[in-house]
Order: sequence, then C-alpha cells, then structure tokens
Amino acid sequence: MATFVIATHNVGKLKELERILAPLHIRAVTADLEEVEETGTTFEENAFLKADAACRQTGMPAVADDSGLMVDVLNGEPGIYSARYAGENATDADRIQKLLDHLKGVPRERRTAKFVCAICCVFPNGEKITVRGECPGIIADAPQGTGGFGYDPIFLVNGKSFGELDPIEKDKISHRGIALRQLAKELEKMKENFSC
Ligand code: IMP
Repeated sequence: MATFVIATHNVGKLKELERILAPLHIRAVTADLEEVEETGTTFEENAFLKADAACRQTGMPAVADDSGLMVDVLNGEPGIYSARYAGENATDADRIQKLLDHLKGVPRERRTAKFVCAICCVFPNGEKITVRGECPGIIADAPQGTGGFGYDPIFLVNGKSFGELDPIEKDKISHRGIALRQLAKELEKMKENFSC
C-alpha cells in the first residue's frame, strides 16, 4: 500500500480524501506542515502550491485540494476565497450567513452555483498530476441538514442539500468525488512512481 501525505488542515476535506483514496490502496497520512500562503489566482495553482510544499517538506508524494463555491449571480464569488469569505476567524455558520445575506431576494432560478475542486498530486521526482471536478447546484434560502462541512447545508442538488446526504451519496456526485476518481485513473497510469 502506498502512503501519500495529505496537505490540509481541514478535517472535513481530510475525511473525504481518506474515504475516496482508500479503495485505491493509498494510505492517507497527515503531517505537521507549515501553513502555505494561497497566492494563486486559480484553484489549480493553489492546489499545486500546497501539494508542492508538502512534498518538499516530507519527501513523500503529497496530495492537496483547493476548492470552493462559485455563485453565478455573484460573478463566481466566493470562489478561491471561499474559506476566507467572512474573514480569518469566521465559522462555517458565519460564511453561510454572509452568502445568504448577499442572495437575499434573489429568486430560486437565479441562485445557480457550482462547487469546484482542483486536486494536485506532486511526487518527489517532480512529476505532478492536476485534476478538476465540478458539481452544479442551487443555493438554498436557508440551511438544510447538519451533515458535511463548509457550505454543504445550503448547496442543493435535486432539492436536497449536501448537508442532508449520506457521505457516500455526496462522494458519488460531489466536485471532490469527481476529481478524485479522475486522479485515480491518472495514478493507475503512473503506478511505477510509487510503491504499491
Ligand atoms: P480551501 O480549499 O482550503 O481554500 O477552502 C475551501 C473552502 O470551500 C472550504 O473551507 C469550504 O468552506 C468550501 N468547500 C470546499 N469544498 C466544500 C464541500 O465539499 N462542501 C462544503 N464546503 C466546501
């Protein structure tokens, strides 16, 4: 079984990444990593910055995810700033409230959005894989459900929020699930880069 370091401090993301990587015979471990400044202008650039730093620090293959919510009527905001949308020390509830306030009075048909996830895997030999997954949905008028993390309770797909879905059901349709299944295919092609 190969061991990859997962470059995240977000427990919600870590759980999802571990769950989806396990069937690929990849053991996901965490490490005490230095915080990386997300100076990129795209999800892909930020995912690379985090994975590259983790690979350099540990000498192990490293996987990082950069993700966020893009709301059409807000011109794609909060986008790459999703984690920082309501300031540095804000909670998920604060970020949800800020977004709902911005969408006050916007009718359901104009509340379209998408979750985006870029995942980058960097190997000690310098090779890298970058994949992207997107999941379209609608922003609810109020939170629904208590599962998941982040903006899950206000992101609706077929009338149900991600916060109401069983984790396995979320993985099947989520931006992260889509990106990780693509990563799995790419890893299959370059198995010699890591020991299985
Ligand atoms: P970053 O990738 O660490 O910059 O943070 C991405 C932010 O986007 C998270 O902190 C969440 O607020 C949000 N986000 C990303 N993926 C999800 C998801 O699957 N569900 C809910 N919120 C998410």
